[in-house]
Amino acid sequence: MPRVTKPISDALNDQINRELESAYVYLAMSAWADGKNLRGAAGWLRLQWEEELQHATKLIDYIAGRGGTVDLKAITKPPARYKDLLDVFRQVLKHEEAVTAAINALYGKAARARDYATQALLDWYVNEQVEEENTPAEIIAMLELAGDTPPGLLMVDQHLGERSRAAPGA
Ligand code: MG
Repeated sequence: MPRVTKPISDALNDQINRELESAYVYLAMSAWADGKNLRGAAGWLRLQWEEELQHATKLIDYIAGRGGTVDLKAITKPPARYKDLLDVFRQVLKHEEAVTAAINALYGKAARARDYATQALLDWYVNEQVEEENTPAEIIAMLELAGDTPPGLLMVDQHLGERSRAAPGA
């Protein structure tokens, strides 16, 4: 496989930072949810944290595998406090939409450079982002239906907790 070019590896390094930043955001949200006794949501967000670390690692391995230089950058501090669980998932969706835009821009860069190997790698991320946006959108809809009632919130939290028990990464 030919070496990855500097402009592409720079762009991939920026994406590693975004994935690690995502991981950090999910970890902060998980800790907040745990503090509010929303154990199901905390577990869901913790699994998401692990997924984001995998997204970053996959890019790290790819750059290294194509003879590029992995250049880790500082990660922005995530918020420690959230208004409520609806606020958390609205922020998740907004965050993932920004990640999708970044991946699309990266894909465009690889396409213009005719870097087919990077495009093939990014196909996986393009697909992943569909789920990364759909899932929080569904959770937001559920939370909006449940409203501010404690039974509704408990029901959603229980539903989110099923992910941790059933299939990690599902
Ligand atoms: Mg990600």
